[in-house]
Amino acid sequence: MPELPEVEVIRRELEPLLKGKVFAEPMLQMPSTIEYPSPELFAASLPGREINNLNRRGKYLIINLDRGILTVHLRMTGNLLYVDDDTVSEERFLRLSLPFTDGSALHYFDMRRFGRLWLTETQAELKEVVLKRIGPDILNDLCRDDFLELLGKRERSRIKALLLDQGFAAGMGNIYTDECLYRSGIDPKRRVQDLKKEEAEKLYQSILEVLAEGIKYGGTTFRDYRNARGALGDFQSRLAVYGRKDALCRCGASITKAKVAGRGTYYCPRCQK
Ligand SMILES: [Zn+2]
Repeated sequence: MPELPEVEVIRRELEPLLKGKVFAEPMLQMPSTIEYPSPELFAASLPGREINNLNRRGKYLIINLDRGILTVHLRMTGNLLYVDDDTVSEERFLRLSLPFTDGSALHYFDMRRFGRLWLTETQAELKEVVLKRIGPDILNDLCRDDFLELLGKRERSRIKALLLDQGFAAGMGNIYTDECLYRSGIDPKRRVQDLKKEEAEKLYQSILEVLAEGIKYGGTTFRDYRNARGALGDFQSRLAVYGRKDALCRCGASITKAKVAGRGTYYCPRCQK
């Protein structure tokens, strides 16, 4: 499932390719991919709009247009693929084709079909319709003191559950949460109120580092994630704990898998206290 680094990789790749492109008539192979407004209204109002720039909030890709905002959430298996001409090499799982007036196109593929798109007219509408329950972006919107202050308001939460909560801060998913908790030496089952200030600070630092490395190595690909040109990520080979049950940690102990916050969680029982 794409998390913040994977969406950021896509954003950075797509922005120079899409800037100044003008949408032509979209083809909705699976209309229910459009969450808002109706698929009919979406198809009728997208043509003629021009792309200004691309932003991101957590796992949401936010495409700012000359009029309105197109937002994409890839959920489990969504992929955005940019092509110079609008031919589709692989029809399987193609849900939307968004051609541009210059003959290039952005295709949306999604095997599991959970991904969604929204077309909103104003920032206020974007906030109300799409981002109402989404917290600040954990990489761009939170300095260390902000992060510590937010933690202080959620003292009884378990740290793993809190980091996964997109209303607390947006962007972390299961993979990067496990990696950040490992790097900061924190047991994922602990409660926020039991963290020392130094541990919380270490956690914040680890989050910035791990997310930056994830972006640097093009994201993590286990099965489905591809960047906007169809290439695989490379961060999976650098993961310290996620997906590595029974492998040896560098301390010599075996990586353990347990259910925490309802999710399969990987950690080192010796390094993480
Ligand atoms: Zn260890």
